[in-house]
Amino acid sequence: MTADLSPDRRLESALASLRGLAVGDALGFQFFTPAHYPLLKRRELPEGPWPWTDDTEMACSVLSVLAGHGRIDQDALARSFAGHHHADRGYGPAVNQLLGRIRDGGDWRELASALFKGQGSWGNGASMRIAPLGAWYADDPEQATHQAEISAYPTHQHREAVVGAMAVAAAAALAADPAGPPAPKALLDGVIDLVPRSAVGAGLRRARDMLDYDDAGTVAAVLGCGRRTTAHDTVPFALWSAARGLGAYEQAFWDTVRVGGDMDTTCAIVGGVVAAGAGGAPPAAWLERTEPLPGWVPVTSA
Ligand SMILES: [Mg+2]
Repeated sequence: MTADLSPDRRLESALASLRGLAVGDALGFQFFTPAHYPLLKRRELPEGPWPWTDDTEMACSVLSVLAGHGRIDQDALARSFAGHHHADRGYGPAVNQLLGRIRDGGDWRELASALFKGQGSWGNGASMRIAPLGAWYADDPEQATHQAEISAYPTHQHREAVVGAMAVAAAAALAADPAGPPAPKALLDGVIDLVPRSAVGAGLRRARDMLDYDDAGTVAAVLGCGRRTTAHDTVPFALWSAARGLGAYEQAFWDTVRVGGDMDTTCAIVGGVVAAGAGGAPPAAWLERTEPLPGWVPVTSA
């Protein structure tokens, strides 16, 4: 591994992941609409356009800070999250309040650490936005893991939320390997090696043991699929699904969404990781129905 990817190449890789994340987020969210439940069984697409949610809005900030600073700058990231925050994009109540206070001049260090009686949030919000960062560090999964850790703190300071972000970034970096995406077990082995001991890590070990299960519903019942919207209830299943779906976006999406849970977020994570890898782009027709990325996302390097 060498750290010699050009800025253009990093941005291109991260944008590919971001597009996959946005499609997963937007299409996954469609299946919270009761009228769309029958479509899910038939694997049919709802009519567009599909608006994306907080997962994509925050991921756009991650990418723009990387493009502007060449790494994660926590203050710039907090400013971008707050400046581009729209409460109607499906944020959790704690993050809505936090970003409002940062926008009003509050210090993210104090505000984020005070959440949930001083334990910090263990929600899946730091994980849902981070796959493009992994793709940015396609040549350096260790650095991806380190930068993801730093990126979590402006909003999520509980250890599980931080490790969840580290795990998703590691997975995207490994998937984006310029030599081609790894086999499912190699992906999860690589992620497990890069994250510290934690409930997320324990879940990932269980996910690895279940890679040969074909029933996603059973696996989701064991690992969780985001119903509690915690990192440890979300990331192990999402990375189980992503590992099995490398190079096959459509299959990965349907396997992920059909078990329910926090579908915009599980599908955003899976979409962002799978699209980071060669042959993992979402179908063009799906991209067309997805709301375009906001105009402030950089599409050329500075
Ligand atoms: Mg969302």
